[in-house]
Parts: sequence; C-alpha cells; structure tokens
Amino acid sequence: MSALAQSMDSHAAGAEQELTDGFHLVIDALKLNGITTIYGVPGIPITDLGRMAQAAGLRVVSFRHEQNAGNAAAIAGFLTKKPGICLTVSAPGFLNGLTALANATTNCFPMILISGSSEREIVDLQQGDYEEMDQLAIAKPLCKAAYRVLHAADIGIGIARAIRAAVSGRPGGVYLDLPAKLFSQVMEAKAGAKSLVKVIDPAPAQLPASAAIKRALDVLKSAKRPLIILGKGAAYAQADDQIRALVEKSGVPFLPMSMAKGLLPDTHPQCAGAARSTVLKDSDVVMLIGARLNWLLSHGKGKTWGEPGSKRFIQIDIEPKEMDSNIEIVAPVVGDIGSCVSALLEGMGGAWPAPPADWVGAVKAKREENVAKMAPRLMKNTAPMDFHGALGALRTVIKERPDAILVNEGANTLDLARGVIDMYQPRKRLDVGTWGVMGIGMGFAIGAAVETGKPVLAVEGDSAFGFSGMEVETICRYNLPVCIVVFNNDGIYRGTDVNPTGGADPATTVFVKGSRYDKMMEAFGGVGVNATTPDELKRAVDKAIDSGKPTLINAVIDPAAGSESGRIGNLNPQSVLRKK
Ligand code: ADP
Ligand code: MG
Repeated sequence: MSALAQSMDSHAAGAEQELTDGFHLVIDALKLNGITTIYGVPGIPITDLGRMAQAAGLRVVSFRHEQNAGNAAAIAGFLTKKPGICLTVSAPGFLNGLTALANATTNCFPMILISGSSEREIVDLQQGDYEEMDQLAIAKPLCKAAYRVLHAADIGIGIARAIRAAVSGRPGGVYLDLPAKLFSQVMEAKAGAKSLVKVIDPAPAQLPASAAIKRALDVLKSAKRPLIILGKGAAYAQADDQIRALVEKSGVPFLPMSMAKGLLPDTHPQCAGAARSTVLKDSDVVMLIGARLNWLLSHGKGKTWGEPGSKRFIQIDIEPKEMDSNIEIVAPVVGDIGSCVSALLEGMGGAWPAPPADWVGAVKAKREENVAKMAPRLMKNTAPMDFHGALGALRTVIKERPDAILVNEGANTLDLARGVIDMYQPRKRLDVGTWGVMGIGMGFAIGAAVETGKPVLAVEGDSAFGFSGMEVETICRYNLPVCIVVFNNDGIYRGTDVNPTGGADPATTVFVKGSRYDKMMEAFGGVGVNATTPDELKRAVDKAIDSGKPTLINAVIDPAAGSESGRIGNLNPQSVLRKK
C-alpha cells in the first residue's frame, strides 16, 4: 500500500475502498515524472498542496514573491532540461508568476507555472469571487501552452501534457490551471493511480535531414572568413563534447553569446569573444548554433555586420520558424543541437581543411590587442572602486573557482562583467537573457544553488538587486551557498543625477546615498561585508565561498563611474528638447 493510500485510509476509517484526491494525484503525477523540487509561495488554495508535497518527499522552496519563485523554476529548467515547477495562488500570485513564465518562454527555458484558481462557475459569470480572474485566458498568449484540469481523473493527463509541451521541440513555459475545487475531489485510489501518465521520451531527438547537413558543410567549406556563434540553446542542449569537437575540428573562431560563455573556455585559442566587433563585421560565413538573430545580434544586419550582402548564414535550431526570421538563411539545419552537431561532425569525415590562416591570424591579433588594452584597468586597486577594478577582482575569483555559478544583472554591472569575467565551464553564467530583463537575480541564484549544490556568486547592480532583494531572507532560511555582490553606485546608471528643479525630491534615477545593503543580509543571520577596495572585495568573496554561508557584500563603487543604460544607451530614446 502506498503512503498516500495509507493516509487516505486512516482518514476514511471504515470506508470500503481506498481513496485518493486531487492533492495527492498532483503530487504523485509530478513524482512519477521525476520532478523533485517545487518553487512557490503558499496561500489559498495551494497551501496544503505545498505542505503535502513536502510531506511526500518533494523539496518545496517557499519564496517571498512569486516572480522570484518563477525565475528560480525557469533557471532550474535551463540547467536540468526538466521543467522547473512554480506554484502560486490565484489572481495576483498568478500574475506575479506569469512575468517569470513569459520570460522563460522568451528565453526557451522549460517551466510549468501551476496556479490555483477560483470557482469556474463564479469566474465565468463574473459574479465576484475571491481573487476572481480568468487565468487560463490571460496566460495563453504569454506562454507556449496552457491547460486547465477540472476533474481529478484528468490530473495525470494534464501534467503529462504540461511536461511534454514544456520540454519538447523549442522549450518554453506552460501554464497549468488547477481550480480550488479540484484538490479535494476524491476518487478511488486504484483508478487514480492508473490515471497517471509517466511521459516517455518527453523531448524526442529531432534528426536533421542529410541534405541539410551537406548544404551546411558545403557553405562552411567555401568560407574565407568563417565564424561560429554559440547561443544559450547550445548551452541548454548539453551536447558539450560534440560542440567542442565540432569547433575544434573546424578550426573556426567562435563567439559565445552571454549564456553560452564557458561552453568552451573563454581562454580557448579559438575564442573570439575579445574580438567581437571584428568578427561580426568581417566574417563571410556565420554558423549560428542555438542563437537567434534578434536584437542581441543586431538582427543580422546593419553596421555591426559590415557591408550589406557580405555574409551567408548557416543556422542550427530546433524551431523551423526561426529560419529567415530576420535575414535569409542559406543553410538551415533544423533539429536538436546534439543530433545536428553529431551529423555535421560525421559529415566532415576524417580530414577537414583549416580556415585560411590570414583570417585566424587577424582574429587572434585583434583579440590579443583588446585583452592587453583592458588588462591594466582590471588591476586598479582604488577606493571608491570603478567597475573595472571591482570586476577585475571577481574575474580572478571565477578563474580560481571555475565551477562556481555566476548570476549577473544590472546595466553597467552586466555589460562590463560579461566582457571582463571569463567563464570556463558550460552553464555557469546565468543572466538577464533575451529580454535583458532586471529582476532575475535572486530567483536565478536560489534556483542554481538548489539544483546544482554549487557555490553561486550573484553580481548585481544596486538597482537590479532591488527587484528581488527580499529573497535574501529565503537564501538565509534555506542556508544556501550564495554570495551576493551589490555594485553600489548610489543609483541607476550613476548616482550623481540631481533634481533639475532644485526641489527637495531626489532625481528619478538615484537611491539613498551610502546605503548599506550588507545590513539586509545581517538582518536574517547571514554575513554582511562592506568592501571599499578590490582587495577587500576579493577576500570577502573567497571567504563567503569557502564558508558556504549566505553573504552579501556591499561593493562601494564611484557614483560617477557608470554610463547611461550601460552598453545599450542607443535603445533609450532621448528628447531633443531636453535641457541638459
Ligand atoms: P542567445 O540569446 O544565447 O543567442 P537565443 O535564446 O537567442 O540564444 O537562441 C536559442 C535558440 O536555441 C532558440 O532559437 C531555440 O529554439 C534554440 N534551441 C533551444 N534548445 C535547443 C535544442 N535542444 N536544439 C536545438 N535548438 C535549440
Ligand atoms: Mg547602480
């Protein structure tokens, strides 16, 4: 007799058959499919679901705000290729979680948002129920798929559909609507157990056509100045060995997108990270592996890409609709990255011609020039710190601890850290992703710590940190090995703006001067440090990682050091009429 049947049995003393209910069926269906962790915020109508899930051996991590729980679930999906589960209450809790679900979908991370909802009959007649909202209708346009389960007997199928939708093809977010009434619906335990579905092969391999492979290799072979761009889809695919073999066998310079850094080390001789502008502008054939030609790559056109018509693109992606989304793809290769890269390797055969030496040499020279230019700025040991000095210290930390996970958000803190901090292992850099969104910090840090057990270093702009900062309590409560460094320059972009009217209110972009974010961590029993020099910063991070204790380091940055919107100031419209 299962534990669930036993417990039902003891409740229904004297009942002739063993019974189960909606609560137990949801938990059993998740467990049957290998789900081990739920991220969420308790409340009506899912409080007991969380309690019972914990009692049934699932790890249930309770947050202070649903958006952070959702971000934790999303990054769990990215790191494990299994859907991360986020559990919320109805209406406002659901909406908070929905932001994370939409973000996960945009980033192609598999995630399932499970929200309790109010009485269907009352919601549909708009009679004003507690937290009334037609959640399914609202979720639908913002995620990959959305389902509602009305009968306990359908829970197994509902969860199976949600899992398959999240991880198959291009991964994404799925919404699962569970009305309050469902949880207490009772059915016969045996029939309940039979109704559950263990999803077989949830993300089936998708093999590329051999003609597509041949076409891609022909284009690559004909290149004079080839480039490989690795995106976070390549990191997600966990085909690390094949990708490395393809890059090395081809001899082609590679450029990692932000979250693909570390797939091959940034210090690899073929890495063109430090020669980014040059390779984008001067290459003639570009092979995209799990990277979209969206705004982060200037849509494959414009000044960034040099002369119009100077490129031919090969694209490897699981989503056929991605091809030609922004510009013509001469060699589309549709399939999962593991299968596609393996097929390319096989097609290359024993010997493959190295790319022209003048191209490889030019990329190498540019890279060395840029690295040398940056080096002295990273060694400045002054107080207050500037971004490069502080990041120089953190760069050394990751070099010495390549298995630590780096979470990164902010404006300048993000843009500069991406370039300065080298990564050495796959899926160790987690950041603002496709939307460039603020607020992922603590959710990603907690999700990464829970899923991997590795130390997490979260490098946060002071503004970015504010969106999820209350979760330091969660980090302390679960005693997670997370070290947060807040780059505190007193404001957004900079801390030096003033109110143009001379009035008493501060400028719109500044915060309390000289804030001590480290005290927030101390309030919950964690370690707080105020660091004013790169040396102090490095010592404090080392200590935090060695101890595994929740730590927040307030890194005092010169308020005048930042630039408007970091590296994407061009996206921030400015009035020509504005008086400076
Ligand atoms: P980046 O921002 O790093 O450039 P994107 O998120 O733009 O990366 O692109 C990731 C791409 O990877 C998406 O187009 C997605 O369809 C694709 N993708 C995700 N997982 C896989 C996979 N297993 N196989 C093939 N393509 C994948
Ligand atoms: Mg700031």
